[in-house]
Amino acid sequence: MMTNEDMMRWLERTADVLAENRVYLTQLDSPIGDADHGVNMDRGFSAVRSKFSTMETTDMATMLKTVGSTLVSTVGGAAGPLYGTAYLRAGGVVAGKQELTSADVVAMLEAFLGGIVARGKAQPGEKTMVDALTPALATARQALDEGASLAELTRRASAAAEEGMKATIPMLATKGRASYLGERSIGHQDPGATSSWLILRSLAEVCESKK
Ligand code: ADP
Ligand code: MG
Repeated sequence: MMTNEDMMRWLERTADVLAENRVYLTQLDSPIGDADHGVNMDRGFSAVRSKFSTMETTDMATMLKTVGSTLVSTVGGAAGPLYGTAYLRAGGVVAGKQELTSADVVAMLEAFLGGIVARGKAQPGEKTMVDALTPALATARQALDEGASLAELTRRASAAAEEGMKATIPMLATKGRASYLGERSIGHQDPGATSSWLILRSLAEVCESKK
């Protein structure tokens, strides 16, 4: 089960990890973008961090919706509205819940990815965050069917996201800023797929630490 406290710990861990990876994500966005993805994510999650003390006394749906609306209003780049919609939709599917089963966590991940696809219209293979999140969701569903524990399910989803992230390297970008480069986008790891992996790895770490 994932509790309100676990949700809070996931968001705190995400803020820490994105701050730690601010330079790395920005470096990835340098050859195929405008060198701001790490700055964008850290700006957004720093604004979220300033709301942690009030979020702590709310429930998980409110926490996720607060993250979503904060990202939409503070992040200028493409990632702000994309992740903002992801967290808003994730908050929508956990509405009224005080704890999540493994099936609920999979539904939350499905809504998270669904928000990004609804907003950005990217398909798998276009070299975006969708390429990390799509295999992560498929793997999470499979782990659920196999009766895996929440720790195992999220660990496998995170590993699939990492594979998906690496698989963006040979891809030709056809969405977002990287698509302006055409063939020159090939050979670089997508920054958004990388932040998506870090977000899922943070979830797996929180679920692992509960065991
Ligand atoms: P910007 O491109 O405005 O500078 P960021 O640098 O913060 O914004 O984010 C870039 C990332 O956004 C890309 O690496 C890619 O993963 C993601 N992205 C861009 N467009 C889309 C889209 N239409 N759908 C999904 N993800 C996208
Ligand atoms: Mg950028």
